[in-house]
Amino acid sequence: MSEVGTEKNPLRVAIIGSGPAGFYTVSNFLKHTDVHVEMDMFDRLPTPFGLVRAGVAPDHQKYKTVTRAYNKSAEQENFRFYGNVEYGSDINLDDLKQHYHQIIFCTGAPGDRNLNVPGEDLQGSHSATDFVAWYNGHPDYVDYQFNLQAESAAIVGLGNVAIDVARILLKTDNELKSTDMADHALAALRQSKIKTVYVLGRRGPAQAAYTPPEIKEMGELEDADVSVPSAEAAIDPASRAEMDQNGDKNVAKNVAAIEDFAARTSTGKSKELVIRFLVSPTELVGDKNGHVSGIKILKNEAYAAEDGSVKARATDIEETIPVGLVFRSVGYRGAPLPEIPFNESWGTINNESGRIVDNGTVVTGLYTAGWIKRGPTGVIGTNKTCAQETVNMMVEDLKAGKILSPVSSAIEDAKTLVDSRVENVFSYAEWNKLDEIETSRGAAQGRPRVKFTKVSDMLAELQ
Ligand code: NAP
Repeated sequence: MSEVGTEKNPLRVAIIGSGPAGFYTVSNFLKHTDVHVEMDMFDRLPTPFGLVRAGVAPDHQKYKTVTRAYNKSAEQENFRFYGNVEYGSDINLDDLKQHYHQIIFCTGAPGDRNLNVPGEDLQGSHSATDFVAWYNGHPDYVDYQFNLQAESAAIVGLGNVAIDVARILLKTDNELKSTDMADHALAALRQSKIKTVYVLGRRGPAQAAYTPPEIKEMGELEDADVSVPSAEAAIDPASRAEMDQNGDKNVAKNVAAIEDFAARTSTGKSKELVIRFLVSPTELVGDKNGHVSGIKILKNEAYAAEDGSVKARATDIEETIPVGLVFRSVGYRGAPLPEIPFNESWGTINNESGRIVDNGTVVTGLYTAGWIKRGPTGVIGTNKTCAQETVNMMVEDLKAGKILSPVSSAIEDAKTLVDSRVENVFSYAEWNKLDEIETSRGAAQGRPRVKFTKVSDMLAELQ
């Protein structure tokens, strides 16, 4: 048999997960024109694109245009998509080792982090990521219920997810109806009684994790005013020193946006966003029915820590904000995968520059990229360089002969195995058809698409 990675004996790569990291793995391999590679991508859903479909806010369509590049990769003859196939149940590691020289896990971070405060499991307390998946029509979240009959909601955390959730709660039907938000969410939000949304940050305006365009947009909503208590908008001395030292333009823009909001007075819009800084939740308070009725917070004070960062410590000033809905938005979290070494504290696969490592030893043939490799940080494009690093390792290992020895690397044999395990495997051609149906249903309503939100409906549509 000729050398692996040649025309006669291509490198066979299995990519688990079809989000940005999975697709950037494909495009990075395509740049290595000296390596003949045949790539099979697996996703547990019939639809590709991971968080680009189920995480990016529906009113931020511009971020979804990255899928054009993913489609270009998918058009290549050396790419196949096996949708509706789950790693760990439909196929396992041994199956993949029988058919591929290299396996890369790009499964993202489907879970979320807890606040670890009493009352977190009351009704009406949710992860922001569940709400995001619900309004984006992720099939696993279609039946979730959120108490949108409450008059006020609190979101804990100051990242872009918190801002997305606040914006979706505060936008009017007019602002949402032209998006590709799932129909069930549009209908529920149309009936929403939420008037006040609190976003609660444990540190100050100079440490917020959101990005300037996202925070600025909150001051431009059709029917929601924005306010910030002026004392909390003020920059404390430790933060001022940090800003002077770092000269970070994004921090300066974030701080300026908050100063602008703090100086505003109500214009009589029917809803309000209240952004609070230097407050930490200590308890979710429940009513007699076990439903959230408030969130207890402690005021914090900022201080310069020994490592040079600005941290927050609690004071004894307590307050309870009455709310009927709470979202924790303190970060996504990776989930362990069967037979893959996992770091529980980080929520990531153990790896060195993308090579999977078990007890300090590199595991031949196993790799990772994206959030499950490095944690849930960065924008979509960050996954490009992340996948590039891993693909470089994969090519280096191929050249060093450090690859798996599959029983059969024939494309057809892998396909036969998958077809024997899953009745309705979804190909990219089938996804393209579904995409066309979704977009034409959307065009009829002046929307980018009307999504299918149930796997059974997706499969039935193409039968
Ligand atoms: P994130 O950016 O990591 O923000 C998490 C926030 O939670 C931070 O403000 C953090 O505060 C806070 N936090 C953590 N633990 C806390 C605790 N125990 N109590 C109170 N607050 C706590 O996470 P994310 O918002 O989930 O976003 C994930 C990634 O996706 C980010 O890189 C984000 O930029 C990206 N994203 C981008 C967009 C966009 O570009 N429009 C949209 C959505 C998501 P500290 O700083 O004090 O730790």
